[in-house]
Formats: sequence, C-alpha cells, structure tokens
Amino acid sequence: MKTMTKDCLICRTRTNHSILFYLLELNIVKCRNCGHKTLDKYPEPVEIKEVNTGMYQRLSKEYDFQKYKWAKESVDVYLKKIQPQVSRNSSLLDIGGGLGYYSKAFQEKGIKTTLIDLDIVSLEFAKTKQNIDEVFQGTTLDFLIKYPQRKFDIIFCRHVIEHIENPLLLIQDINMLLKSDGILILETDNSKSHEILLNYGTKKFYHNLYKEKFVNYSLTKLVFNPIFALDPPRHLHAFDIKNLKIFLINNGFKIKEAQSYSFGSKLWPNIPNTSFKQLLNSLKTFSKKSIKINTYNFFGGFIRYILNKYNRGAGIIIIAKKL
Ligand SMILES: [Zn+2]
Repeated sequence: MKTMTKDCLICRTRTNHSILFYLLELNIVKCRNCGHKTLDKYPEPVEIKEVNTGMYQRLSKEYDFQKYKWAKESVDVYLKKIQPQVSRNSSLLDIGGGLGYYSKAFQEKGIKTTLIDLDIVSLEFAKTKQNIDEVFQGTTLDFLIKYPQRKFDIIFCRHVIEHIENPLLLIQDINMLLKSDGILILETDNSKSHEILLNYGTKKFYHNLYKEKFVNYSLTKLVFNPIFALDPPRHLHAFDIKNLKIFLINNGFKIKEAQSYSFGSKLWPNIPNTSFKQLLNSLKTFSKKSIKINTYNFFGGFIRYILNKYNRGAGIIIIAKKL
C-alpha cells in the first residue's frame, strides 16, 4: 500500500499515512499512528460552504413531529448520562444543531439553550418554529469573537466534527466555551464500524457513492479498510473511539464515558431495525424487492447487535469533562 508523510491533526505527530482510496484529485489517507482517516487535502472552502448552506432546506419547510419525538428520546438518554451535573439553570451550547430539534428537547427540560450553526435557513426554522432561546449564525470562532466572556455548562456537538476541515481548532474553541468542569457530549460516525454495510439502504448509498468517486474502489477493499463515513466534501474526517479519546485527552478533557451505538438505538432512531413481524409481513407481499431488503436488514440486525457489543456500532458517543 502506498504511503505519504503528513501531519496528523488528531495525534499531533508527523507520520506515515497509508493511502487507502484515490479520488480524482485527492486521496483518502489513514494515520499509521492513531488510525484517523481523512483526506490529503481539503476541498475549497467555497465548496464546503455550498454543501452546508441550506443543507436542510427541504426539511425546513414543515415541522416534523417524528423528528421531535426522536430528539426527545435521545435527550432523555443524554441527560441520564450527564446527571447529576445538570440543573434546571444549566446552560447548553448546541454546535451545528441545524433545525434545532435537539436544542428544543434540551430547552423543554429547563436547560437554557443556545444554538449555533452556519446555515441561515435552518436557524430561521429553529427560531420561528422551535422558539429556541438564542440562535447564532456563524462558527464557534465567530461566537468567541462576539462573546469572549461567554461560558457554558454543557456543549452538545452531534455529528458535526466530521464536517469541519480542522477539528483541532473546533475542539480548542469548545474548550474555551466550556466552564471548568463543564461537560462535552460529542458524537460522530465510527470509522471502524461495518454497520453501514449491514443495512440495505446505507450499504447501497455508500457503495454507489464510493464506486462513483474512488478510482480504486471495490467492496472487498472497503470491508478491509472501513472509512465510515468519509464523504467529501460533506464528511472530511473519520474517527474511532480510541483516537477520539486520545484527541480529547490531548486537548484538556477527561473521558467520562466512550462507547459506540447502533442504528435503531435511541441515539440513532431514524434508521430503525427490521422486526421479525416486518419480515413476515414482507413475505406476504410476494414482492421480491421487499423480501430481499427485509431479510437483509433482519439478519444484518443480529450481526449489528453483536458488533455494537464490541464497540463497533456505527455511532460514537463520548462524554468528557473539561479539566
Ligand atoms: Zn494520527
């Protein structure tokens, strides 16, 4: 396998990187020291901005009660994990929380919530449809410049860090925005997980995407070099639990909890598991496609359940305390 020498933002070493996949103008590389996977160069800021602006334009047309219900269930899980550090007067910063469903659920628990995001369309929705206490358009750096004295009890950053060109700058901003002893809830995709390949819909999506984008793609290569869920210019980084923990420890945090979670769990409810009843119902339809998808997902669900037991679920949640 070809290699290149490159600085790793995550373990802060200049080290050999394996080149896993080639795109037309860039490469997917893996740090030989910490296993972090990223690109050897990043798309132009304009291109990244384009992807992130109006990302949820279609979803911001109408209030989605199902999304609200899911966010509420997830927030119950988060609060259980971070009690007793939370009181009704606690302040929370939701970084990159888009349409504000999670912000809203935290707010309903009596937590004073500030939502920051780059996307003006999503923020408008969060302000008018969700009545979020405070919304701010910009980056964490923009916020720090405007409010250098503001500090929060809790920072919530769900599936955002993989979108940011420089996660090091983000984590340094998060550190500055937290009170000492403040809590960070950080979530991202698990690059070591094979769950994406065990759900029919996600497998099809990533297989087609990579087939189109990578010069040297094959499904076997992907099985041996999982890179979930790198997808430039959308996702620019792929972490695993080990290197994400090292990254946080090196940047002034103490790890309270670190684990993976699966599709269909309360933290990732929008890709539900296929139940035995659903499988039986699909057999009754005699639709070849429906039977194929439901069988794949039902048996895939078993394997995914076991994978998650070994921290190979598709998502990572880390609860860390600022030292
Ligand atoms: Zn590294």
